[in-house]
Amino acid sequence: MAIETPDIAPSVIDSIGNTPLIRLNRASEETGCEILGKAEFLNPGQSVKDRAALSIVRDAIAKGLLKPGGVIVEGTAGNTGIGLTLVANALGFRSVIVIPETQTAEKKDTLRMYGAELIEVPAVPYRNPNNYVKISGRIAEKLAASDPNSAIWANQFDNVANRQAHIDTTGPEIWRQTAGRVDGFICAVGTGGTLAGVSMALKERNNDITIGVADPMGSAIYSFFKTGEFRAEGSSITEGIGQGRETENLKGAPVDTAFRIDDTEALTVVYDLLRNEGLCLGGSSGVNVAGAIRLARELGPGHTIVTVLCDYGTRYASKMFNPDFLRSKDLPVPDWLERAPSVDV
Ligand code: PMP
Repeated sequence: MAIETPDIAPSVIDSIGNTPLIRLNRASEETGCEILGKAEFLNPGQSVKDRAALSIVRDAIAKGLLKPGGVIVEGTAGNTGIGLTLVANALGFRSVIVIPETQTAEKKDTLRMYGAELIEVPAVPYRNPNNYVKISGRIAEKLAASDPNSAIWANQFDNVANRQAHIDTTGPEIWRQTAGRVDGFICAVGTGGTLAGVSMALKERNNDITIGVADPMGSAIYSFFKTGEFRAEGSSITEGIGQGRETENLKGAPVDTAFRIDDTEALTVVYDLLRNEGLCLGGSSGVNVAGAIRLARELGPGHTIVTVLCDYGTRYASKMFNPDFLRSKDLPVPDWLERAPSVDV
């Protein structure tokens, strides 16, 4: 007889979500605030995108759009593809993933390991018909045309089942974990699902919570919330974040303030968290925590601010932790990456 207790997840996909909040000690002490990170890297696919992936697939099944053995097609910077492929494996589907070739080898290798059919395409802007998102939509359309209900396009940018995951789970978890004593929430925008979903859930419970956006260089979200216009400046090595349009998931996000975070500021936070707190995070988490520090300074001491720790730094070892790559981008190289051992053998 199977043992059933609330502490046993009946399957891997049931272990998605319910991630801990971790106090970021140095950021908290420096600002006089409580800065808390939602540890989304602890999801089974090791990123925040597992939540959106599960929600999108469950929604398609509920609508009768996906039959057993069917194919899930998606264009992704990697993490959504990993989440979708693990959900597909668990539920008896296949996945076809289209990824811009600029994304890290670590994410592409992970997708292949999981069994995704991976299609690498040149990175071109969204307005170009050969943008990875548009290619993935066309592939899904073609597959579904020859065999109805055999393929879906996950369409994470404009499918609001994405943000519904955060309205239903991430937001309420943060509310419960802070006993409702959260004053601010901030994160970056890729699809906008996390930002919009969490902020809608939190504002519904307390409309006074301040919602911030942390935007990397090369993205137009900061200018959109400041001026109403989409204008991008500069570039960033971060992956999975940055946006140049108002996606369906972003629409109606109750944003109060916005900050622009450059790579040096984000990487300084990532390296500091790794070396002083043992937390190895990716670049988008660096943008998020840097944003939380900026929001803490804006609100003043005594506030509790929550942000999202999206994925692990190991997913970016070949870039953010690679001295040659960092030098090629004129970014500072952390000293320990090039240090000789201090002990004799
Ligand atoms: N960080 C990383 C590493 C991601 O892969 C993504 C998703 N593209 C995000 C942040 C942004 O999340 P969202 O799509 O919910 O805006």
